[in-house]
Amino acid sequence: MKKILVANRGEIALRVMRTAKEMGIKTVAVFSDVDRTAAHVLFADEAIHIGPSPSAQSYLLGERILEAAKQTGADGIHPGYGFLSENAEFAKQVTDAGIAFIGPSPAAIRIMGSKLAAKDAVKSYNIPMVPGTDKAVDDPDEAIKIAKSISFPILIKASAGGGGKGMRVVTHEGELKEQMERAISEAKSAFGDGSVFIEKYIQAPRHIEIQVLADNHGNVIHLFERECSIQRRHQKVVEEAPSVVLTPELREAMGNCAINVARSCNYSGAGTVEFLLDEDKNFYFLEMNTRLQVEHPVTEMITGVDLVAEQIRIARNEELQIKQSDLSISGHALELRVYAEDPAENFMPSIGTLSTYQIPKGPGVRVDDGYAEGMEIPIYYDPMIAKLITYGSTREIALQRMIRAIDEYYISGLFTTLPFGRFVMKNEHFINGNFTTNFVNEHFDPALIKEERKEEAELAASLAVYLIEKNKKKLRIQPSQPSIAWKNRRNH
Ligand code: ADP
Ligand code: ADP
Ligand code: MG
Repeated sequence: MKKILVANRGEIALRVMRTAKEMGIKTVAVFSDVDRTAAHVLFADEAIHIGPSPSAQSYLLGERILEAAKQTGADGIHPGYGFLSENAEFAKQVTDAGIAFIGPSPAAIRIMGSKLAAKDAVKSYNIPMVPGTDKAVDDPDEAIKIAKSISFPILIKASAGGGGKGMRVVTHEGELKEQMERAISEAKSAFGDGSVFIEKYIQAPRHIEIQVLADNHGNVIHLFERECSIQRRHQKVVEEAPSVVLTPELREAMGNCAINVARSCNYSGAGTVEFLLDEDKNFYFLEMNTRLQVEHPVTEMITGVDLVAEQIRIARNEELQIKQSDLSISGHALELRVYAEDPAENFMPSIGTLSTYQIPKGPGVRVDDGYAEGMEIPIYYDPMIAKLITYGSTREIALQRMIRAIDEYYISGLFTTLPFGRFVMKNEHFINGNFTTNFVNEHFDPALIKEERKEEAELAASLAVYLIEKNKKKLRIQPSQPSIAWKNRRNH
């Protein structure tokens, strides 16, 4: 592989290109109108414009991207995450064109892209599953019967769902019919597939996922777990590795299960097997993500493995050089997803320009981002600005570093999840490792962020008053100049 086209944008496009560069591989970026001067475009050796800003007219246009690959002579395509990364048809078109798709086979993507097909595929491997249906349900009466047999609350899930979308909790029989109809129509419009199924709603679970690597020669290894329980809208915001609740025995059991899930679909490349862990430490298979995961850096920090480099080597048909017994956990890593969202307003997207953008530096800090000061966060894509990752020999050190790094991260022009991250890092339940996926609902009060903002505003106002007082003398000595300047500013 001599030249890789990255079919993505933002931080993940840069992340992939950096490793490619280290491996002596040339890089091709693709970009939409709004991304003309984006960081991934500037970084790449070559860049091809693929269309207007909306992703349906650019980053989701497989054929246009394939054309760009042919035009530039790229012999590999890396899909990143989101966009076309879990599109089996695209993977097939790439492979058929004689270009290496840096990811698993179209067949593996197809199976794991459907939560129902995934459950079916792993059946013969004795993988623990959340109680529920293993087929799509569209008859409300049947749904009620199933719900009663597993007992409320239940969760209606879209088989083709992803990114935390397409899920509905139902607590009473009375609301099931309506919720189910809504879920079906939402799934149809969001994923083009109206299949929904029912799972028991696990009340206070932790989301624990296992990173796997598999080559085309039958080797499959796991790279331990990531704890991703701090979520809003069923989507992760803070992740860490390792998890504070796994014992070595449980880690091994979950790791082996994840390896079996990968084997069940002849997986190759980097993948993630997601589980829920209940209060009694029973774990249940949720789904497999057949791509590089957003939070992969925490695994890289504790294992020293460059997951993108491994993806590339596997796509070159090389045999995995890492054996399970070579791997061990070293230290602790935390990640905060820095989203352009307002944590004080239910994590609503916060549109704007990065008027100030200064990233934290220093020991144990890694920032994976795709923006620079002065840039606008486009409304067309995922509102993630950056991932802030900290590492330390212990969780305590990683945590203190995270707080220090958040304090050092200056963003103005829009609201971000940085203050939410600070809240999490200082929360006693998080510090003690005593939390579940309900953390945000149970412990986070948006009023805290509002209060913090008010205090900051008051502080800024007092500072202004103080500076005026301090400069009064000077202002009196030269009355004309500043007052004219002031007047001018107000008039224009
Ligand atoms: P991860 O699963 O890697 O932890 P996310 O769940 O946040 O991360 O998803 C990764 C990216 O893919 C996000 O940009 C998310 O919006 C997008 N995404 C995931 N699945 C889908 C899907 N089925 N449809 C649309 N976007 C998706
Ligand atoms: P997605 O494809 O959107 O990532 P997942 O099946 O991975 O969907 O679930 C995303 C999140 O939703 C989980 O991390 C968890 O917080 C919640 N969730 C999913 N299934 C259940 C369940 N059966 N019980 C409780 N919470 C669940
Ligand atoms: Mg998931």
